[in-house]
Amino acid sequence: MPYTRRQVLVGAAAVSLASLFKVDVVAQPKPTRIILLGTKGGPSVGKSGRSNPATLILINDIPYLIDCGYGVSRQLISAGVSLDRVRYIFITHHHLDHDLEYGTLFYNAWVTGRPIHVDAYGPVGLQKMTQDFFSYAKFDIETRMVDEGRPDPRQMISVHEFEQAGLVMQYDDVKVTSCRVRHPPITQSYAYRFDARDRSVAISGDTAYAPELAEFAKGADVLVHEVMYLPAIEKLIKQLPNATRLREHLMAAHTLPEDVGRMAARAEVKTLVLSHLVPGDDPSITDEQWSEGVREYFKGRVVVGKDLMEI
Ligand SMILES: [Zn+2]
Ligand SMILES: [Zn+2]
Repeated sequence: MPYTRRQVLVGAAAVSLASLFKVDVVAQPKPTRIILLGTKGGPSVGKSGRSNPATLILINDIPYLIDCGYGVSRQLISAGVSLDRVRYIFITHHHLDHDLEYGTLFYNAWVTGRPIHVDAYGPVGLQKMTQDFFSYAKFDIETRMVDEGRPDPRQMISVHEFEQAGLVMQYDDVKVTSCRVRHPPITQSYAYRFDARDRSVAISGDTAYAPELAEFAKGADVLVHEVMYLPAIEKLIKQLPNATRLREHLMAAHTLPEDVGRMAARAEVKTLVLSHLVPGDDPSITDEQWSEGVREYFKGRVVVGKDLMEI
């Protein structure tokens, strides 16, 4: 029996509704996730179980990696992110606890054998550091290109370095901006802010108390901020021959819990996450000790960061 005009129209409407629904399901953005990969400040490799600094933000399931401390490749895998998925890297500054595994992570992504492309962003010096890594790895890379038929990894990374704060990158899913912070004697030290459609996240990098960071992080859903706990530091460094110098550096370049609390309150963020803990290898410091100074000034949610914790 031939279809009536009405049946045809109803059928067409059903088909187009189904295809609309399908498109909608496919295009639905995934919620933004934050995973702390390494929460220990400083370059030493300890036995606390805390890895060196790195933070992962998954925006619509695309990884944005902030800093590449030692162990970052392993931590990414532990967080369920295969290394060929590494796509965007942001370096806050060139203290090596933040980029010791930068080149190695890229290499590890390359040797997966799957197609990769990495865009790396960071302060001036990143281009040279990338080239220097390729010099370090030249023998292996060129051997494998000839012997194993691999593509040239030097074509698979784009480096974007900057000397001033401002817009870092922007596209549909996210806008990334930077703010220069106070980390003497390093002048090129930056915080980053990620404004995704569903969530905004600011990452302090390494800094002493910096009012401009409060403006930069204003109203963010999450602020991941460094912190140091002075009583434990004093206990730790008193035996060292350079104790006085080291204490001066730490006080000038990092933030005590009370000041982290002032920062979070001034920035009016919803959640404050403590990461880059200094000292990061002293298991006797309780979560309460890390956060009690913070809570004197900040009444929002405080999370004491631990490796592989998701916020
Ligand atoms: Zn650091
Ligand atoms: Zn630093």
